Amino acid sequence: MFWWQDDVGQDVRVAFTDRGAGNLALHTGDDADAVRSRRAALERSMGVPRGSLVFLEQVHGTDVADADRADRPAVPTADAAVTATGVPLAVMVADCVPVLLVGEGPGGSVVGVAHAGRRGLLDGVLERTVEQLRGRGARRLTAWLGPSICGGCYEVPAAMREEAAARIPAVAATTSWGTPALDLRAGARERLSALEVGVVEPAAAGSSCTHENEQLSSHRRDPGSGRIVGLVWRTAPREEGAA
Ligand SMILES: [Zn+2]
Repeated sequence: MFWWQDDVGQDVRVAFTDRGAGNLALHTGDDADAVRSRRAALERSMGVPRGSLVFLEQVHGTDVADADRADRPAVPTADAAVTATGVPLAVMVADCVPVLLVGEGPGGSVVGVAHAGRRGLLDGVLERTVEQLRGRGARRLTAWLGPSICGGCYEVPAAMREEAAARIPAVAATTSWGTPALDLRAGARERLSALEVGVVEPAAAGSSCTHENEQLSSHRRDPGSGRIVGLVWRTAPREEGAA
């Protein structure tokens, strides 16, 4: 079910699913009841209450949802989310970079997720997310970058590489067959480092390239492979008013 997971301190866990967890997206034409039961199975594995995991309506934008707002929609339209109260968060991907962020806040961990595809990365979704986390008092932020298509596989037109590299030079790449490409993870690493956020790139079984590793979902390799997710959650939610 999990490609990789870890306890990162402050009672926070971070994880990325593989296709063993099945497709977790409701927007890819899959049977909705099947997706809902997979999400429920995932919540059981995480040890969080059923229905508590917040998914986003991702639109390749830069909006950051505040998961702590009492009046937020059940499924916020956003490409990132933050919480200072331990709301379990999910971000769906199939080639884009899933980014999980954890920082130390004044009252416990402050965490977030972000969907860093080409558009969102170039438009500043990571900057916006880090700004929101720091606005909640997060210090010593660390980001985990999950499985995504690698620079050797993500072929794009030359003009697209040029436009992207003009904003973030680190994204310019070349495919293994010698044509223009983008390395989204290198771009995310570069942006996060510039924001003074520590970056961790977990290594797990098989390649971390979604296009090369059939245990992961890749929209480019197989549009029917659905979405894997990045997850961040608290294992022991802090009781309000507890010492
Ligand atoms: Zn690759």
